[in-house]
Amino acid sequence: MGEGSISTIEQADTYMFKTYSRFPITLVRGEGCRVWDEDGKPYLDFVGGIAVCALGHSSPVVTKALEAQSRMLVHVSNLFYTKPQVELARLLVENSFADRVFFANSGAEANEAAIKLARKWARDTSGDGKYVVICMDNSFHGRTMATLSATGQAKVRKGFDPLLSGFKFVPFNDVNAIEQAVDDVVCAVMIEPIQGEGGVVVPDSGYLQQVRKLCDERGLLLIFDEVQVGMGRTGKLFAHEHFGVTPDIMTLAKALGNGLPIGAMLATERLSDSFGPGTHASTFGGTPLVTAVSIAVVRSLLEDGVLEHCRQMGDYFKKRLHGLREKYPFIKEVRGTGLILGLELEREGAEVVNSCLEQGFLINCTQERVLRFLPPLIVEQDEIDQLVDCLDGIFQRME
Ligand SMILES: *Cc1c(COP(=O)(O)O)cnc(C)c1O
Repeated sequence: MGEGSISTIEQADTYMFKTYSRFPITLVRGEGCRVWDEDGKPYLDFVGGIAVCALGHSSPVVTKALEAQSRMLVHVSNLFYTKPQVELARLLVENSFADRVFFANSGAEANEAAIKLARKWARDTSGDGKYVVICMDNSFHGRTMATLSATGQAKVRKGFDPLLSGFKFVPFNDVNAIEQAVDDVVCAVMIEPIQGEGGVVVPDSGYLQQVRKLCDERGLLLIFDEVQVGMGRTGKLFAHEHFGVTPDIMTLAKALGNGLPIGAMLATERLSDSFGPGTHASTFGGTPLVTAVSIAVVRSLLEDGVLEHCRQMGDYFKKRLHGLREKYPFIKEVRGTGLILGLELEREGAEVVNSCLEQGFLINCTQERVLRFLPPLIVEQDEIDQLVDCLDGIFQRME
């Protein structure tokens, strides 16, 4: 590690809140699936900005849109119409179940909008009684007070009491638990179609359909948080497409701008009137700059064969992870769809993550024991091979 790197880290320790436990490298450049630290050491990136950099680093698609729009118009305010914002909304509507879009700046903000819309709709349609959102154990919806209150993980909530009231928790994958939790004050159910931070947990077949049916019977809104698994991550534009159900509200963020900050809340027409003038707003939400980049990202996902490539590479990657599982008894399970994959170990994963880092691979571990892989969707087979061979070597030494 060069002196420059130490100095950056020392300065971070001096000047910044220590909210992140970071790896001791300073990254300065990226291209495709590769990033370089300030000493020039390359890494293959299987974190992908936590499912953000779908088209990879320094994507020409992004750079071109960013350059062009930055010369046209960066920001004006939502007091006025801008073309890229409306065009992105149309693109999202034309390629989803939804009829209307609200733009925010992050996943948490998109979820804030979803929670506010659900409450407002409940108030508009059934008086003052309904406001409770049923959420899942082990869910993750963000770090603002409302989204934290919707997040079913004690370690994330600890120290911030009292949180917002109006959230109830049930186990994921258990439709009966939802049924029992529904009472006169419940207005919505909020679910990640695949739990990301919760450890890459894929629902059992039929579960989401049963939840949809229950919501219809009981007059509840179904909210899908696709902040992590949307925008092509699973090999379809939206993860819920794998399960044959559509929600009433869906939230997006992470890969929507390939690294530019944008979130979106999409919903069906029947909810439209509940978000009228003055009900919700964001200064930066959907700026021309960010939405112009997003348009290019969405078009590339749809038109450049990225989704098909993601499915193929995901299948190949999963097959290779299963190969590791057959070899090492301490690998408990391989989970995931497309290029959100998890390898659950029977021991803590931190040591594996650090060994990978030393050998030039960025991976991530969630829930202490689940190695999570979220590479750019443009990852190639030989890059997957390099990582799996590296993991193989690390596992061999661990035995
Ligand atoms: C990352 C994430 C969020 C929060 O997004 P931010 O942009 O960090 O606010 C919300 N929901 C899910 C499922 C996520 O993975």
